[in-house]
Amino acid sequence: MYQLPDLTYDYAALGNYISKDIMQLHHSKHHQAYVDKLNKALDDAPELKDQSLESLLRGVDSLPENVRTVIRNNGGGHYNHSLFWQWMSPDGGGQPTGELANKLVAQYGDFQGFVDEFTAKSLSVFGSGWCWLMPDLSITTNANQDSPIMQGSEAPLLGLDVWEHAYYLDYKNKRDDYVNAWWNVVNWRFVEQRLHDSE
Ligand code: MN
Repeated sequence: MYQLPDLTYDYAALGNYISKDIMQLHHSKHHQAYVDKLNKALDDAPELKDQSLESLLRGVDSLPENVRTVIRNNGGGHYNHSLFWQWMSPDGGGQPTGELANKLVAQYGDFQGFVDEFTAKSLSVFGSGWCWLMPDLSITTNANQDSPIMQGSEAPLLGLDVWEHAYYLDYKNKRDDYVNAWWNVVNWRFVEQRLHDSE
């Protein structure tokens, strides 16, 4: 049985950038719902229970048809959100250091060039989805709760949830204000660790 992971910080810890109300709703309601629906799907296909979540998602196209879509949406939702909470930190913001910083500068000219391109791609997602920084430093997007690993790619270094449920309470329809605020809480230490682990 999959379980909702605890946050390593309080719901209110991200201050005005991502409010306590958004964090509480997003984690305890939305993420919990993905976990619950994923568990229910696995009750309907118990032969899949021995596989890791990552394995299920990497093989999503060959899952039994009766659970394929529900695992894609809710397994993807659980996977993406479990990372998303770690991609933010009350000690976040600022800029990355070391190898990650050097690679971003090499790819985008300077750190702000990377921020501008990631922001633009985040704003270009039509409807619900995610924007990713990949291990090759490219920036990609997916619709819904899809992850790059469903398409045979490596796991992303960083990801931003641009579903309205991630920002509507505070930012209404202003996704750009949400994205601009989010940069203040990005947990670069975790992103640097993921780059290191991907090599
Ligand atoms: Mn979300």
